[in-house]
Amino acid sequence: MNFKLNQQIFSEQYLNNEIEVFIKRLDLIDPFIAGNKLFKLKYNVDRALKEKKNMLITFGGAFSNHILATAAYANKKKIDSLAIVRGKEYFELNPLLTHAKKYGMKLCFVSRKEYSKRNNNKYASELIRKYKRAFIVPEGGNNKLGVLGAEEILEKEDRSFDYIICPIGTGATLSGIVNSSNRKQKVIGINCINDIKDINNNVSQKTNKNNWEIINEFNFGGFAKFDNVLTEYLKKFKFNNKITLDLNYTTKMFYGFEKLIERMYFQKKSKVLLIHTGGVCGNLGFNYLYDLDLPYESN
Ligand SMILES: *Cc1c(COP(=O)(O)O)cnc(C)c1O
Repeated sequence: MNFKLNQQIFSEQYLNNEIEVFIKRLDLIDPFIAGNKLFKLKYNVDRALKEKKNMLITFGGAFSNHILATAAYANKKKIDSLAIVRGKEYFELNPLLTHAKKYGMKLCFVSRKEYSKRNNNKYASELIRKYKRAFIVPEGGNNKLGVLGAEEILEKEDRSFDYIICPIGTGATLSGIVNSSNRKQKVIGINCINDIKDINNNVSQKTNKNNWEIINEFNFGGFAKFDNVLTEYLKKFKFNNKITLDLNYTTKMFYGFEKLIERMYFQKKSKVLLIHTGGVCGNLGFNYLYDLDLPYESN
């Protein structure tokens, strides 16, 4: 799908440890439909259009990459979109929701209590009754069609990698990658949120292999949590490699990856592929909330 680029990183640390490290630049696909979100949306939107639906409804927090990606992709595919946003307090639009709105997305802010019903069948039927020809995409695009799309992230030539590493939110992306990996490859998910049990269940249900491992210790306290070490790491990575990482996911992934190298986790002479899942525009949200100066463009 579209273009995907594997770029090698020649860091001294990698050379000293005798591993070859590549990064799959899904962040370069589009500024707002970047990364894994496009893969997870693709078959959902195809299905919606096939069923002659005229609107996508999805869910997320006020700083959700998934909401913005859905708005941009729906706009491109000429279908309406509506987001149910967690939290009534976001009366002032942040940069991510402002972009989503520019793409014509309607925003409906609900209480945390109402938001917690997002996966209930009854709540879904109420939404369908209200919006008639709507197609519901779950939070994070985490359903079977989302995983099917994520299976297309790996390409034929990626069979030569010994390790494939990606960050985890819901685990849909990891599931897709595991499904299309070969059994000799090891797939490692760096948990960037907090729901360890949910992720494990989700991935176990959606994968057909067991060549995967989830590493939980690099989540920096949970989703959207960070400290100075992490922001400095992001800036240093940008300076050294000219690649922008997002603070929510890919910074935690690379940070964790380097800790694993220090622990001699990887066999010498092995080839490692890290998936840059995009989302760098999410840094706009951190700049807005915490007055930071993180880069937020891919190049
Ligand atoms: C949403 C997101 C993820 C999480 O993907 P899941 O499929 O939910 O695990 C990872 N990286 C980035 C940049 C994201 O925006």
